[in-house]
Amino acid sequence: MSQTVKAPSLPAFDCKILLLGGTTEAAKLAQVLNAQGFHTITSLAGRTATPSPVDGIVRSGGYGGTDGLSTYILAESINLIIDATHPFAKQISANARQAADRTRCPLIRLERPAWQQQPQDLWQLIHKEEEAARLLPGGARAFLALGRQHIAPFQSRDDVHFIMRMIDPAEVALPLNHQIILAKPMGFEDECDLLRRHKITHLVCRNSGGTASYQKIRAARELAINVLMIERPTPVARHIVEDAEAVLSFVYQLFGSPPRSAC
Ligand code: NAP
Repeated sequence: MSQTVKAPSLPAFDCKILLLGGTTEAAKLAQVLNAQGFHTITSLAGRTATPSPVDGIVRSGGYGGTDGLSTYILAESINLIIDATHPFAKQISANARQAADRTRCPLIRLERPAWQQQPQDLWQLIHKEEEAARLLPGGARAFLALGRQHIAPFQSRDDVHFIMRMIDPAEVALPLNHQIILAKPMGFEDECDLLRRHKITHLVCRNSGGTASYQKIRAARELAINVLMIERPTPVARHIVEDAEAVLSFVYQLFGSPPRSAC
């Protein structure tokens, strides 16, 4: 459904921004916007046991689909939605687009650029974890850098040895041969060390983009390790930008000068 979105002509300090988060970019953006005097409500899914602190107001938990999100936007008089969720968080982005259309609330999507394959990279591009689970050869030693919600498809591959890295422990049945590492992505040398130490033959990961988790990709390149790279879903938002500066200029266009610089 096409529609015309009208920018509300409010002074910046009166505008309320709903920032759909759960990413480093969203937390940084909340910091920048609050420092400029904007009011943000950062929305988290509530999956992480101990989320990092975020500037501004934080709310946690789902809305109950598009209907619930639309109700929230209207009830809270939200003037702008910034969807800064993870590139693979497909459902919440789809809900945000629909709720924005329904409520006629402006929406901008902040999505970090995808990693680009370099000539030395041994990538096989795939679309789903299930495909990776099928493609891993018997006897492989696979490093799953996927997070705990995405490892269920590997459950039946008892002929593969898995090293699984995640932040919080998994709550699903796991394959016979596995080792869990509760940790965040590391620097280049440590990633190389991990891949060598566990004699990894295959890395399975999503093309999340960004710098924080890129070092494992560099390490796989350095050690000539095969990568089963899960490609991103097609973005649903109409207006997509890649960095906080572009979001800020959009916010200024909508609401005018930030209150801090106007003082
Ligand atoms: P998803 O599949 O797109 O969303 C599933 C449901 O979780 C949504 O329908 C919504 O529930 C709720 N939800 C998701 N993000 C939310 C948010 N920011 N605020 C409030 N509710 C939210 O999302 P996902 O892939 O499970 O990811 C969940 C969160 O983790 C996202 O915020 C994302 O940014 C972050 N994250 C995801 C990944 C990843 O690999 N997918 C990686 C790092 C961080 P209702 O329908 O009930 O509203």
